[in-house]
Amino acid sequence: MKLLDGKLCAAEVRTELKARVARLAAEGKKVVLAVVRIGDDPASEIYIRNKVRACDEVGIVPVVRILPADTSQAEAEAVVSALSSDPEICGILVQLPLPAGLDEARIMRLIPPEKDVDGFSAQNLGLLASDRPATVACTPQGVMELLRRNMIPLAGKRAVVIGRSNIVGRPMALLLLNADATVTVCHSKTQGLAAICREADLLVCAVGRPNFVTADMVKEGAVVVDVGINRTAGKLCGDVDFAAVAPHTSYITPVPGGVGPMTVAMLLKNCVDAAERQL
Ligand code: NDP
Repeated sequence: MKLLDGKLCAAEVRTELKARVARLAAEGKKVVLAVVRIGDDPASEIYIRNKVRACDEVGIVPVVRILPADTSQAEAEAVVSALSSDPEICGILVQLPLPAGLDEARIMRLIPPEKDVDGFSAQNLGLLASDRPATVACTPQGVMELLRRNMIPLAGKRAVVIGRSNIVGRPMALLLLNADATVTVCHSKTQGLAAICREADLLVCAVGRPNFVTADMVKEGAVVVDVGINRTAGKLCGDVDFAAVAPHTSYITPVPGGVGPMTVAMLLKNCVDAAERQL
């Protein structure tokens, strides 16, 4: 069993991005990422702090707009619209979830596809679905990058994705399909989940439940990617029962230190890509 080390890969990606940001700077182009936080969700605060630190490391300029929890729909839309039309801003990220009462879809639609560094827009999802160049959601893109950098072949392999959310499971399945894997997507209504998982050469789990994937669900020698982030008794863990599953795998991601760091690295990459396109 080998660990798929997301920390190491993310550091490699950041080094490459730093060089690209420096080249853009030499041409007079600053890479600016706008981050909008509405409300005081403590998890959002930690995520944003990590993203700002990562921006600083590669030379991307973060612009953080913090709005109170009682921000009105009109005020939120005005802030996002202003960032959308600001030529200095290369990418816009609205940290989700938004406080109850705000129409998330309407706010997200104000981000133009070329500044949609989260890859959540209908246009980017549509491009991905039709296997055309798109800005892809950071987490599934990070998984692909981790697999690529570890030279894990995908063409012709059986891939099973557990989870079908718009930000992880669905784009993950499309990326694997575009990479010529034979893909099965499972969700809460799936019957015979364990048997389906046992067929997987690559098993990606994005459910959000600790110890969801157990050893009896994993084929001997499979690659297991654990996207889940759960907090149990103050400790972070994934969706996979790591101790029991790892000995049966050829490669497995740890949590923390697997997919998480790659997600942040892909956000930076999407932002640098956007800046290069703007130039
Ligand atoms: P969602 O809650 O949006 O989606 C969870 C998915 O799991 C749904 O599709 C749901 O099915 C499915 N599911 C729930 N119960 C079962 C079950 N018993 N059997 C099979 N499938 C089931 O979560 P996200 O996709 O946003 O996130 C998933 C996990 O990944 C979370 O732990 C999250 O914290 C983590 N995450 C990690 C990131 C990282 O950087 N590492 C980034 C983003 C998320 P259905 O559609 O039928 O409800």
